[in-house]
Formats: sequence, structure tokens, C-alpha cells
Amino acid sequence: MASRTEGGLTTPVRATGVRRAFGPAVVLDGADLHIAPGEVVALLGGSGSGKSTLLRALAGLDAEAGGDIRVTRSQAVVFQEHRLLPWKRVDGNVALGLSGPGVRERVAAALTEVGLGDRGRAWPAELSGGQSQRVAFARALVREPELLLLDEPFGALDALTRLKMQELFGRLHERHRFAALLVTHDVDEALLLADRVLVLDGGRIAQELDVRLDRPRAPDDPGFAPLRRQL
Ligand code: ADP
Ligand code: MG
Repeated sequence: MASRTEGGLTTPVRATGVRRAFGPAVVLDGADLHIAPGEVVALLGGSGSGKSTLLRALAGLDAEAGGDIRVTRSQAVVFQEHRLLPWKRVDGNVALGLSGPGVRERVAAALTEVGLGDRGRAWPAELSGGQSQRVAFARALVREPELLLLDEPFGALDALTRLKMQELFGRLHERHRFAALLVTHDVDEALLLADRVLVLDGGRIAQELDVRLDRPRAPDDPGFAPLRRQL
């Protein structure tokens, strides 16, 4: 699907009326979602509310999803599990699908950026969970995508590693200014990292909260009470 240009800027995600049913179970029932260039949008929702289904539809991984889904081709996905190929070294995993001059340098730069400049020749099995997820981020970023789609990327990590990865995400975003859809079930993570928070419920975006204006706000800010009630 091509991205659409408006006012000289590409809109990375413009999806209207997204629908997906599995047999009789309607999981997405007309979800609307727009993401502006460089914007970080967190998608919250209870377990089984359809967050991953929506992300997969936006990523073009679900041919059965209905609705008007316009998403930039310049996108990369980071899943909860890193999905590195075990038979390729770290640098080979990051370089996957890339060709042309300068790939080696770009891969090295991406690994350095995620703090793994010295692990390019390691095997995935030699890495910790956090390091593997760093490689997954390097593999996504080396393509310089306009859009990152992230499905609970820190969900499998211990609390301290998660904090470090959230910090890394913030730094990478400051530098690369990609748009991002961050699926999470962690309200604090959403408030920490996102410009806007959406809540998926009943197959639609049931609530939307702009959290950018006076960031940073404490997670117990009364302004967030409706969001907490929703979850
Ligand atoms: P979330 O990511 O919010 O936890 P999912 O998008 O994974 O939720 O799943 C939403 C609902 O859709 C769940 O009830 C799940 O069982 C169902 N579902 C997801 N994928 C499939 C599938 N391939 N086949 C049948 N049901 C599915
Ligand atoms: Mg999910």
C-alpha cells in the first residue's frame, strides 16, 4: 500500500474502519487510526482486545483484514520475541535483506547505536533477552523506516532491562524521528513514551488521550484517571 502525501508530508498510517473477524468472533469492528510523521502513539487495551490483530493488519501481515488501510511501505516491525535467525550472526541478522554498497558500515553504525557495537560477530544464542531485543531494534532501524510497529517490544523483559530499553527507545526516537505505534499493556510505559494514547476496546478505538502537551506528567496525574478506569 502506498503512503499518502498531504501538505508535503507523508502520513505513515491512515486507517479507517479496520475490520477483522475470526469466524463469528468480531475482533476489530471499525477501528480508526491515524499516525502523523514522527508521532509516537501507544495502543493500550486488555488482553485479547485485538491489539496484535490491529498491528498485523497495519503491517500488511493479514490479508483478511478489511477497511481502508493506508500505511507507508517504509515500515519495520518489532515483536515481543526478537525473531532473530539463530543460524546467522548478529550482524547478518541486522543486514538481512539489505544489499548494495555501505551495508557493512550501516549495520555497524546501527549496532553501535543500540549499544552492541562489539557484538556483531556473536551468535543470537550468546545474547541475553535485552541484547536480542536491541538487535531487533538495530535490524529495524538500519532500514531508516518512517514507521515502526512495535508489539509489546519490552513485554518479555525483566523490569530493569525494560527501563533501559524504554530509555533506548526514547533516544532512538529523538535521533531518527520515526513515527511509531507502540502496542503495550503497560500504562506507565505508554505515558512515558507516547505523544498520544489510544485504548482499544470493543473492536474500536474507545478512548484517545493526548499526553504530549505537558509532558512529563507523573503517572498518578489526575488527568489520567479516565484512562486507568478504562483499563
Ligand atoms: P491482544 O494482542 O490485544 O492481546 P489479539 O489481537 O492477539 O489480542 O487477539 C484478539 C482476539 O482475536 C483474541 O480473542 C484472539 O483469540 C483472537 N485471535 C487472534 N488471532 C487469531 C487467529 N489467527 N485465529 C483465531 N482467533 C484469533
Ligand atoms: Mg498481543
